[in-house]
Amino acid sequence: MSFFAPDRYFSRISAIDVQKDILGAGFTHVLLDIDNTILTRDTHEIPRDIGFWLGHARDAGLRFCLVSNNWHQGVHDLARRIDLPIVSHAMKPLPPALLRGMGKVGARRASTVMIGDQLITDVIGAHLVGVKAYLVCPLVKQDLRHTLLLRNLERAFIGHLQPEGASCEAGVPEAARAAAPTGVPGVSGGVKAAASPGAAGSAKAAHAASGPREEALCGNDSTS
Ligand SMILES: [Mg+2]
Repeated sequence: MSFFAPDRYFSRISAIDVQKDILGAGFTHVLLDIDNTILTRDTHEIPRDIGFWLGHARDAGLRFCLVSNNWHQGVHDLARRIDLPIVSHAMKPLPPALLRGMGKVGARRASTVMIGDQLITDVIGAHLVGVKAYLVCPLVKQDLRHTLLLRNLERAFIGHLQPEGASCEAGVPEAARAAAPTGVPGVSGGVKAAASPGAAGSAKAAHAASGPREEALCGNDSTS
C-alpha cells in the first residue's frame, strides 16, 4: 500500500482477526482511535461486538493506547472506564501525540499498528511516524461536519477499495447497539462486562441508571 492508503482495510474493528491479522502480522501494540472506530458518534456507545473484541484482544496480550483528537472530558472518562491509557487532543496526523502514545505503552514502530476510521488523521498520521495502519469503516454515518468533508477527500484515495469483512454500509447491528452500553460508570473493565453474556444484563441496568452521565460521554465537536 502507498503512503496515502491503509495497509489493511476492514469493515469494522471486530472484523480484524486478533491472532492472524495483528499478532500474526508481528504487532503487539495498538494505537487506537476512539470516535467512530470503537465509539459510535450518534449514541456514544461501544457496540457489543467491539467490546467483546477489545476484551479478547487484551486477553491475547495486545497493549493499547487510545489516541484521539477529541479533547473533551468524555474521552478521558471513557479511557478510565475501559482501563486504557490515552493521549487526547492528539492533532493527528501530526506525529508528536502518536509518538507519545507509543512511549506510554513501550511500543516500537515495527510492532505497532494504528487502527482508526479516517485516512487523513489515522492512516497518514501512522505512516508519518513509520507505523502500519489499519483503516476501518466509520461505525455510523453521523460525524462532525469537517470530518464529513474530509471523507470526500478520502474517497479520491480509497474510494475503489473494498473493506474486508463486510460493506461499509452495514453499520451497527441493532442487537449490538441494544446490548452494548459502555458508559458503565465505575466498571473499569466495561468492555469485558458488556461482552460477557452474563454481565450484559447488569451492564444494561447500570447503563439505564447512568442517565445524564452517559449522555455526556464524548459529546464533542472535535475531530477524531
Ligand atoms: Mg475517528
